[in-house]
Amino acid sequence: MTENKTALITGGGRGIGRGICLKLASLGYSVAVNYCQDHKSAENTVTEIKSMSGTAISVRADVSNSVEVSKMVEHINTVFGRIDVLVNNAGINIDKPFLEMTEDDWDRVVDTNLKGAFLVSREVSVLIKAKKLHGNIINIGSTTAITGRKNGVNYCSSKAGLLVMTRCLAKELAPDIRVNSVIPGFTRTEETRERFKLDTREEYEISKRDIPLKRLGDPKDIASLVAFIISEEGAYINGQKFIVDGGENMI
Ligand code: NDP
Repeated sequence: MTENKTALITGGGRGIGRGICLKLASLGYSVAVNYCQDHKSAENTVTEIKSMSGTAISVRADVSNSVEVSKMVEHINTVFGRIDVLVNNAGINIDKPFLEMTEDDWDRVVDTNLKGAFLVSREVSVLIKAKKLHGNIINIGSTTAITGRKNGVNYCSSKAGLLVMTRCLAKELAPDIRVNSVIPGFTRTEETRERFKLDTREEYEISKRDIPLKRLGDPKDIASLVAFIISEEGAYINGQKFIVDGGENMI
């Protein structure tokens, strides 16, 4: 039963985060759509949820800022009275060759992708425990946390940290809160559309090279797995990582 349950999705205004917001709203969750800079996209997601007769608010916070995170969680608690599900989805890339990567490039990516998940998880976990709820945290990872990739030492390291954070928290927060990682493969979002120039390159050409299922991922592919893990049917899943990449990385 999702009646009265609330989900917070960081970076929920667009891309994979938006897909997760829409899915959880369709299951009856009240949704808090976090954003940092892109207020318009977050409001569009809220409007979309309301048009499905769902309940949603947008809430601004830079996840790497503990004061803003604290205020965000307090605000959601004031509006909805609880948070049952947290999806740590907010993430950025600043790709550069290792020898050119600056300290600032490292700090911005690690602060958003890793410290951000730490700060939001801590605030939300305190609330879940205080309310004596059974909650879920989902961390959105990357296969490059396992494989590594060129020009992404900051990003891959942050996602590797997130993977082990999942396991630490799964041990520490159980049995009240289950913690799992969902790891997308190459998924079509605004970010990947621009970064990989998907509109000018043939997607099929890219995908048929590496992906056995011969297509890029869709945010819906990620959202449906998140929904399963947090459901009653996923009640015995804890501390795991699940890769959704059409078979590209069988790791
Ligand atoms: P997008 O760039 O489309 O979205 C990123 C989201 O993160 C935006 O909503 C953005 O909000 C938010 N965000 C960035 N910085 C902050 C911050 N400091 N505080 C709060 N929110 C922030 O990315 P995708 O949808 O493609 O990716 C989502 C997640 O999935 C990321 O963690 C990414 O690493 C991971 N992933 C994506 C893959 C893909 O192929 N798309 C593959 C593997 C992993 P705003 O604009 O308001 O700042």
